[in-house]
Amino acid sequence: MLSFLNSKKPVSAEINGRAISVSPKETLLQAALRQGVEIPYSCRVGGCATCKCKLLKGRVKELTEASYILSDEELDQGYILACQSVPQTDVRIEVDLSRVAARRTVGARIVEQARLTHDITRLRLRLDDSLAYKAGQFAELSVAALPGVSRNYSFATAPRLDSQLEFLVRKVPGGRFSTLINEQNLVGQSAQVVGPLGDFWLRPAEAPLLLVAGGSGLAPILAMLEDAASNGVSRSVSLLFGARQPRDLYALDEIEALRRQWQGRFRFIPVLSEAGGDATWEGERGLVTEKIAGVLEAGSHAYLCGPPGMIDSAVALLMQLGVTREHIHADRFTTLRDSLAAAA
Ligand SMILES: Cc1cc2nc3c(=O)[nH]c(=O)nc-3n(C[C@H](O)[C@H](O)[C@H](O)COP(=O)(O)OP(=O)(O)OC[C@H]3O[C@@H](n4cnc5c(N)ncnc54)[C@H](O)[C@@H]3O)c2cc1C
Repeated sequence: MLSFLNSKKPVSAEINGRAISVSPKETLLQAALRQGVEIPYSCRVGGCATCKCKLLKGRVKELTEASYILSDEELDQGYILACQSVPQTDVRIEVDLSRVAARRTVGARIVEQARLTHDITRLRLRLDDSLAYKAGQFAELSVAALPGVSRNYSFATAPRLDSQLEFLVRKVPGGRFSTLINEQNLVGQSAQVVGPLGDFWLRPAEAPLLLVAGGSGLAPILAMLEDAASNGVSRSVSLLFGARQPRDLYALDEIEALRRQWQGRFRFIPVLSEAGGDATWEGERGLVTEKIAGVLEAGSHAYLCGPPGMIDSAVALLMQLGVTREHIHADRFTTLRDSLAAAA
């Protein structure tokens, strides 16, 4: 009885008018890729919203809460994440392919490689051609020294006229790409940048800004601040930067320069989670998320970037504190480990 409800039969998905079959437990993105149907995508774990698409008909089961990454307006309009949606019935989907059209592949040369901390390296690239992006977005980066491998990195600089840009790459234990960037001299080598990707950028408004960065999650926040400062933005800023120990802090001079240039109030609060034995550290201690309530100004819009765990707890807390979902923007720095865990 009622066994049809648990049917393990494939369902059909019509994507921009093309029909494909979706196996039980398969996500829309997996099915589309398997059958050669284009859906823009990047992180594959619900972290970047590149694969957002509109559900016009049918029902899907979501593997993770799309609400952390899609705005209220998008949710109301029926947007879902293809990488996190398992169809429960036949579905009809609309994908905006203009987002793919805006994406370009640009060759580049690595012109500088500088160690910022014991595990974060800054790469400066000179692009062979221009690449239009918004400060806060990210790109897929590959380097000649590791053919066939690409990883996502946020632009750490605002778009500049000289076609140079920077990425900050934190060495992930056991990570192929980030270990290479942190341990081998790559200056002079060629690279490739595919982008722009992602929905993380500063929306125009007058509201105070709460910026929360964890580790290399500071990269897109620096780009946003550089861009906003050069455009004369004067919104009140509270920047919380979470790291472990004093040796994990970086870009402090850059942040001080931004603070001096900023036309409104600018508070910078570094927070160390492992400063226990360090009597010389006079700043904040604990988890960066624990400091949010103390600095949050009424009516703030929040921009969060860093490891998925930090983002999830910051989003939950901000919602408890009354910040509406449409005013919370987040970029999760997911890794292959996260993708594998999500797929398990
Ligand atoms: C939108 C976005 C923006 C990002 N921006 C930045 C940025 O600006 N700066 C930054 O530093 N990072 C950023 N990241 C993270 C970055 O893309 C990479 O994930 C990170 O650099 C790790 O790449 P890797 O090749 O070194 O590690 P990988 O080789 O991909 O491995 C990652 C982890 O998975 C583990 N792993 C690998 N294979 C397996 C397996 N088969 N089974 C189990 N575990 C496995 C590894 O041991 C390691 O711990 C961003 C991610 C996203 C999604």
